[in-house]
Amino acid sequence: MTLHSKREGIEKPQERESMWFAEDAILWSSALRKLGVTAGITARSHGSMAGSHHPLAEQAENRAALARRLGFDAVVRAKQVHGRDVAYVTAAVEPWPIADALWTDRPGVLLGIAAADCVPVLVADPRGPIGAAHAGWLGTSLEVVRALVDAMVAGGASRDGLVASIGPSIGPCCYTIDAERAEAVRERIGPDALETRDGKTYFDLWSANAAQLRAAGVREVEVARICTLSGGADLWSYRGRGPDGKYGTQLGFIGRPRLKAAVP
Ligand SMILES: [Zn+2]
Repeated sequence: MTLHSKREGIEKPQERESMWFAEDAILWSSALRKLGVTAGITARSHGSMAGSHHPLAEQAENRAALARRLGFDAVVRAKQVHGRDVAYVTAAVEPWPIADALWTDRPGVLLGIAAADCVPVLVADPRGPIGAAHAGWLGTSLEVVRALVDAMVAGGASRDGLVASIGPSIGPCCYTIDAERAEAVRERIGPDALETRDGKTYFDLWSANAAQLRAAGVREVEVARICTLSGGADLWSYRGRGPDGKYGTQLGFIGRPRLKAAVP
């Protein structure tokens, strides 16, 4: 079964086959692992990472536990507002910067993007800089991933050397948007990622972000193709929240491990 509808007449970005895999209750990007980067998304069994419906202290502890488990000191976060601002970070800071994308050129810094249906987009330059973006319908229509790539390149990353991975999110199988949002998407980025079926408009966040990454000069784009609502993985989904309205968020993460000191 494919979760992704191919459309004729639209030049598709060259996407590598999804090689995301599950291990230790985390879903991992193999394209980024090949670069020596720690990159993936947590499952529900790790607890909620940044949702507004869970105790903040509990979520802070869940993030700290994740960082420890992955071999980092802390998760570096931003206050996400569905915009396109990008923050350069070298360490965890409080209060969190207001941004929907983060990048760093420091090994040992673990970037975290909270999402429950929005797309975590993880990007790495094989030689150093890494970045992460949060792209829901609004961030995708504002092309937040292009802002991230431009900021990384301005900071020294090699544009055509970048590798990007589009993590699990609500897929084109499930993601309906209302007419007002569809019109905003159409105005900003055109109709290519919109499809009408059964009288509803579906927004393909995966193909939209992949196309934006390609347009920004990224040659290698991996798409996880795992839907948070219908994909069968143990993931939080805002659209799939229970009748009490409660939901949590997973954390898309990317970090370059510190070089290990030579054993004396
Ligand atoms: Zn789905």
